[in-house]
Formats: sequence, structure tokens, C-alpha cells
Amino acid sequence: MIDRYDYLIVGGGIVGLSTAWQLQQQCPDKRIGLLEKESSFAQHQTGHNSGVIHAGVYYAPGSLKAEFCREGVEKTIAFCQENDIKYDQCGKLLVATNELEHERMLALYERCHQNQLDVELLDAKQLKEREPNIQGLGAILVKTTGIVDYRQVCNKMAERFCELGGETLLSTEVTGMEESSEEITVKTNQGTLHCRYLICCSGLMADRLTRMLDIETDFQIVPFRGEYYRLPNEKSDIVNHLIYPIPDPELPFLGVHLTRMIDGSVTVGPNAVQGWKREGYGRINISLRDIWDMLRFPGFWRVLKQHIGTGIIETKNSLWKPGYLKLVQKYCPSVQVKDLQPYPAGIRAQAVMRDGSLVHDFLFAESPRSLHVCNAPSPAATSAIPIGRHIIERVMAASTD
Ligand SMILES: Cc1cc2nc3c(=O)[nH]c(=O)nc-3n(C[C@H](O)[C@H](O)[C@H](O)COP(=O)(O)OP(=O)(O)OC[C@H]3O[C@@H](n4cnc5c(N)ncnc54)[C@H](O)[C@@H]3O)c2cc1C
Repeated sequence: MIDRYDYLIVGGGIVGLSTAWQLQQQCPDKRIGLLEKESSFAQHQTGHNSGVIHAGVYYAPGSLKAEFCREGVEKTIAFCQENDIKYDQCGKLLVATNELEHERMLALYERCHQNQLDVELLDAKQLKEREPNIQGLGAILVKTTGIVDYRQVCNKMAERFCELGGETLLSTEVTGMEESSEEITVKTNQGTLHCRYLICCSGLMADRLTRMLDIETDFQIVPFRGEYYRLPNEKSDIVNHLIYPIPDPELPFLGVHLTRMIDGSVTVGPNAVQGWKREGYGRINISLRDIWDMLRFPGFWRVLKQHIGTGIIETKNSLWKPGYLKLVQKYCPSVQVKDLQPYPAGIRAQAVMRDGSLVHDFLFAESPRSLHVCNAPSPAATSAIPIGRHIIERVMAASTD
């Protein structure tokens, strides 16, 4: 097999696939390959998420995140329509359950306007009319939020990429790389490949791939587990919209929500607890390598110090179902402990800087012949099409041949 490519993309999650498909569209004559270490696409963050097409409520107006998300909703829905993928723009309610949350809700409502979203403010009575099983002082109705199965979106992107001439190499793990002035040599468990330019969208492994090319960076990936439960089938119509709490603005995660899934079920979650294995989805998962990498990174200790209180509460609620349940019962009192049935967890690839700050926006690193997506936080599944286009623009500006 000829092993020379113009572009190689590492990572068969939604960011890598969206980039590969759009790049092949833009460069039909170039040989482009996508390498994925698993035997199918979307096996990590993309296939273990809430399946929400986010409208873009929370993000700072004018930020890349806000811009990509707004465009991402339109592009994701257009992609689903063109490719016959089921989606539902069922809308979402952000519910305030006490005075502090009500105050925060009004600030979020303002932000929705700044982000040009179609929203409506509901009082307690209007909330009850729309959602008889939900209680609160009021809510924001975000009409454009939707749901989809991102695994289906990924499989279709891969199909479209291959139809255009792209090559996908599954079960192919990148184990080493070398860069010269002419090319990048990529070592994999299936043999050695060469490319003129490399794009890494490797999620939970992003820092390890930058290190393979000795790129100087100041971050490390710290895994945060997002644990879910699933409600029994007889409770699948407990809500008509997605129901979210009002988040604490100091924390990067959105809080345990009730999510209608596209298969008709309803999930509860995710929480945010420290992970001890980057790709470990069971209840007890430990990787000595992952733990060792965290312990010798000063940023990890600084995050721990800053968020120790929240960390203890989240861990307690993770181990003790009644604690977890309280987070939902706050706005949906009819959910009971027996309703919390097992559902697979997801693991967030959170980039943390050496000074202990959590990276909230996209983060990239570069070498002369490579671009690395180092942080692609939620809502990167929603925003994957504009993110892919942005990556291509950066690559085109950087690659001279
Ligand atoms: C619990 C949770 C809930 C979320 N909910 C939502 C949501 O509802 N809506 C939303 O928009 N976003 C959501 N997100 C965020 C979103 O899922 C992620 O931002 C997005 O999926 C990131 O995609 P990715 O392609 O960068 O990473 P991934 O999907 O993690 O893909 C990276 C890929 O790289 C591969 N890879 C890694 N190393 C190598 C190697 N050495 N060789 C070959 N392949 C390699 C991996 O196997 C993997 O397939 C959620 C995330 C989590 C964890």
C-alpha cells in the first residue's frame, strides 16, 4: 500500500470527521486519510454525550464558542435534513428553583438576547402549564435547542468523506511521530505513514499527541467523568422539553439535567467527577499512567485546591444515589431513587493550564506541519461543522504546499 498522504487527520470523533469531510470537499485532488484507534467512529466523547444540539445560551457574546454554536445549530440541522438523520428541535427550559437562581436566570436571559437567541421568560404558572411535572419560580424557554444521535452524524460524515475519495483507517493507533522540513512520519500499530500536513483531533489524548512532536505547550488533559442514569420507559414522557438547572457561573459544567434522547428515552445527568482513567467508562476505572501524569502536573493540584469543596460534594453524590437524586428532585420531585437506572458515563477531555485554570474555549497548538486541537469542550459536538471549517482555514493559512 502507498503510504503517502497530503493530509492525515487523527481522531474519528465529530471534530476529526467534520474536518476530514469538509477538507476533502475543498481539496478534491488531495489524498486525505483519517486515522482512528478504535474499530468504529465516535467511541469516546462524541458517542458518550447528552446528544443535545445546544442553542448557545451560556457563552460570552462575541466569543468563538458563542459564534460557532449559533452557526453550529443551523449547520447540524441542515446536515441532518440533507442526510435523513432524525433530530428534534424540542426546546429547553432553564429552571430557577430559588431566589439566587432566579437572579442568575435573569442574567442568563440577558445573555441570551446578547447572543441573539429566540427565548421566552416564563413565570411559575406558565412553567407548570408547559411542564406539569416540573416545579420552579420561573424558567427561560430556549426554542432552538434540539436533540440528535451524534454517532449517526459521525457515521454519515465518514460516509460522505469516503464518497469524495477520503480514506478512513480504523483500528489504527498513532504511537509516534517525527517532523522534518518536508513531511511528518506517523508511526501506527498498523505500520508507518507519511503526510505533508497533520491535523490532530484526538480529544482525551490531545496532550500526548502534541508531546509526540515535542511541541511546547502549557496544558494537560484532566478527565472529568459525566455520570448518567436513565429513567424507566414508563417515565419517558415525564417532560416535554429538556430541563436544565440554572448553572453556577463559577463552574464550567451545566448541572444535572433531564434530557429527552432521540430514541425516546430520558436520561438524568451528567454530573462532573474526577476521572482516574481517560477512557474508562465503568464505575471503577483506574489507569496508573493517567494518574501518574496527573499527579506530576502542577495544574492538577491547583485545580484540586480551588474546587475541593465542589469535588467532595460531586464525589459523594456519585457514590450515593439519594444525593444525586436531590439534584433532580429540586425541579422534578416525582423522580425516585428506583427510577435511576444504569446508563453509560461520558468522560470530558478538560484542558487544564499549569497555573490551574480550566480552559473554557477552544485551544490549538501548532508546529510547522501540524495543527492540534487541544481543547474542544461542550458544545463542540453542536459546533463541529464550523469548527472543522475554522481548522481548515488555519491549516490553509499555515501550509505552504
Ligand atoms: C458527558 C458529556 C456530555 C456532553 N454533552 C454534549 C452535548 O449534549 N452537546 C454538545 O454539543 N457537546 C456535548 N459534549 C461535548 C462533545 O461531546 C465534545 O466536545 C466532542 O464530542 C469532542 O469531539 P472530539 O472529536 O474532539 O473528541 P472525541 O469524540 O473524544 O474523539 C477523539 C478521537 O480521537 C481518537 N484518538 C485518540 N488518540 C488517538 C491515537 N493515538 N490514534 C488514533 N486515534 C486516536 C479517539 O479514539 C477518539 O475517537 C459532551 C461531552 C461529554 C463528555
